[in-house]
Amino acid sequence: MTKAPAPSAAASLDTADQVLAQGVLSGERRALAKAITLVESSRRDHQARAKDLLDALAPRAGNSIRLGVSGAPGVGKSTFIESLGLHVVRQGHRLAVLAVDPSSALTGGSIMGDKTRMERLSQDERAFIRPSPSGGTLGGVADKTREAMLVCEAAGFDVVFVETVGVGQSEFAVSGMVDMFVLLQMPNAGDELQALKKGIVELADIVVINKADTDPRAAENARMQVQGVLELLACASPHWRPPALALSAATGAGIDEFWREVMRYRDAMVQSGELAEKRRRQAVDWMWSLIDTGLRSDFRHHSGVRARLAALTEAVGRGNVTPAAAAHELLDLAKK
Ligand code: GDP
Repeated sequence: MTKAPAPSAAASLDTADQVLAQGVLSGERRALAKAITLVESSRRDHQARAKDLLDALAPRAGNSIRLGVSGAPGVGKSTFIESLGLHVVRQGHRLAVLAVDPSSALTGGSIMGDKTRMERLSQDERAFIRPSPSGGTLGGVADKTREAMLVCEAAGFDVVFVETVGVGQSEFAVSGMVDMFVLLQMPNAGDELQALKKGIVELADIVVINKADTDPRAAENARMQVQGVLELLACASPHWRPPALALSAATGAGIDEFWREVMRYRDAMVQSGELAEKRRRQAVDWMWSLIDTGLRSDFRHHSGVRARLAALTEAVGRGNVTPAAAAHELLDLAKK
């Protein structure tokens, strides 16, 4: 089925971008990849085109199950996503896998994207896997991932996984863009305490103890411990108590039960109206995130600011000017 973009928004696209929008809406993979490259670009002319493209695609977006997956390096995220992903596409879904990689924000490179990951899933035509955009701030990388998610949804992908490495602030960014946040843990003691310390467990709608095949007893103990912790935490929703599940991404044991929990969560959230409310809140937060990014970018591009920034940065570093005085001077310059 070929769907046309909303007429008002499509009207502001040039011919090439109208073709691009049409390609995305028809589910063409090349158009999809090209559209995501456009939204990821930091060039200002590209950003203007990307905004119009997203406006045209927006009416067709939003109809997916959005799942965030996080956990420490080595916990088994890509093995889990591949195993769950293959299960999900066999059930008749189309799956997009996106990533928010905090290292790519810092270094421009990626700790997630470089190795060959999810080989079987990446060869499946019902799945689309996109590595993390690189460069910029974590907020910028996260904004681009949100936009890529909308493009994928417009292209007909009805399940989206957003993966992130459990280091730093990226879990917060990802939990703010998905319907359900999954935290992966190892079956050894101490691991769950680490997540607790960082306040990450509070974000989880479901906790998975992976690698249960290596030591089923230890996995069950870890599961019960985590379940105990989850029961002590204040519930984010009156309609959902986050469960802890032990499974093996490598053998696939427990993947089916996991997906059933996702469906149970989805039903509870849809029926109670909480999902719609969550998405409304996320949309407002996203608006503010874009305002922050836009203001920062305008600030850095302002000619008056640019003329003084290096000198004031150095003066603050040497202790010759207070941070407050420098910030005030620069903010005043930006208003002119
Ligand atoms: P990531 O860094 O979190 O993406 O972790 P990977 O998916 O790359 O997995 C790290 C290592 O753990 C790999 O050698 C996997 O084969 C292994 N692994 C992942 N899941 C399981 C599992 O359920 N059982 C076992 N035994 N090994 C696993």
